[in-house]
Amino acid sequence: MKRKTILITGSAGFVGSHLVDRALSEGFKVIGLDNLITGSEENIRHLRNEPNFIFIEHDVTEPVVFPDDVDYIFHFASPASPKDYYALPIETMRVGSEGTYNMLNLAREKGATFMLASTSEVYGDPEVHPQQETYWGRVNPIGPRSVYDEAKRYAEAMTMAYKRLYDLDTRIVRIFNTYGPRMRLNDGRVLPNFITQALKGEPLTVYGDGSQTRSFCYVDDLIEGVWRLMMNVKYHDPVNIGNPEEVKIIDFAREILEITGSQSPIVFKPLPQDDPKRRRPDITKARQLLNWEPKVPRKEGLRRTLQYFKNKLHLYE
Ligand code: NAD
Ligand code: UDP
Repeated sequence: MKRKTILITGSAGFVGSHLVDRALSEGFKVIGLDNLITGSEENIRHLRNEPNFIFIEHDVTEPVVFPDDVDYIFHFASPASPKDYYALPIETMRVGSEGTYNMLNLAREKGATFMLASTSEVYGDPEVHPQQETYWGRVNPIGPRSVYDEAKRYAEAMTMAYKRLYDLDTRIVRIFNTYGPRMRLNDGRVLPNFITQALKGEPLTVYGDGSQTRSFCYVDDLIEGVWRLMMNVKYHDPVNIGNPEEVKIIDFAREILEITGSQSPIVFKPLPQDDPKRRRPDITKARQLLNWEPKVPRKEGLRRTLQYFKNKLHLYE
């Protein structure tokens, strides 16, 4: 039987590259598209001799033409770290808008099932806690984060429009903070910052007083949820995937000091504008629909991630 084909945008990124690995291990042919703006070929170097994987360097804001069949499209291309999307505001808006439009058209042309990687950022700085999918969010439409938040909200709206108008088979996953190996060391997100700072003996930079919270999901758990949503159900409304275990950023900094054994001090820096104060997914829907919940405790996930960062920094044990 002919292998089915999966197209993954953002395939050289942190999450996208893990998704490529999963799709190959499930016996699919995989086409990866990425323009490497925030990703790296290193994340897929281990696949260079893999006959079922094709990597194409391509900017998905430009239309793409394929002669072959495509059965599933995972649209995961987009800068995702605040530092990246502050530096790339127009690219971020364009990949969420034109990139999503192009990939939806491709899905329609091929009769493929389409998944949008959306985000907890669609909830903005939320008044509702934990965040359920039914919450409409509180986003500042002109603040520095809006280039990402509004692009993703637009992408969700566009995805639903294709579902309603053309009956395209669509999925929307709202991803909450995810971490793990292959995060870029200098991507500016809290975990790469804290771990590299701790390993180098530099001060850990806590923004604000550190009382804001996040809920961190290990990448393997995320991929499992994403995969089940695509393959196991036909469900078109958004689904939160994340780990509901919430932690204050100041406590997270202390945890990183503990697991690294670092003597680094903690310093406080200004809180970025519109930084969400609390974030925690309500995963009732994913539990019921997908029989999914995260399995990797933070301690274990951090241990695995730390190993990756040590290798990257050439700190061999
Ligand atoms: P990442 O920056 O590591 O990966 C994104 C990839 O998309 C990169 O390889 C980048 O080069 C590529 N890309 C960006 N613009 C492109 C374009 N125009 N054409 C082709 N490729 C392009 O980020 P990530 O953390 O892996 O995020 C992946 C997806 O998951 C994103 O859509 C992001 O919004 C979403 N997400 C991630 C998180 C998280 O915590 N990691 C949370 C919420 C949502
Ligand atoms: N943060 C921090 N120090 C850092 C980087 C981030 O205190 O060096 C905080 C940031 O202000 C936010 C949280 O950690 O409250 C998560 O930030 P990140 O950039 O990882 O992702 P976000 O969830 O804000 O998109």
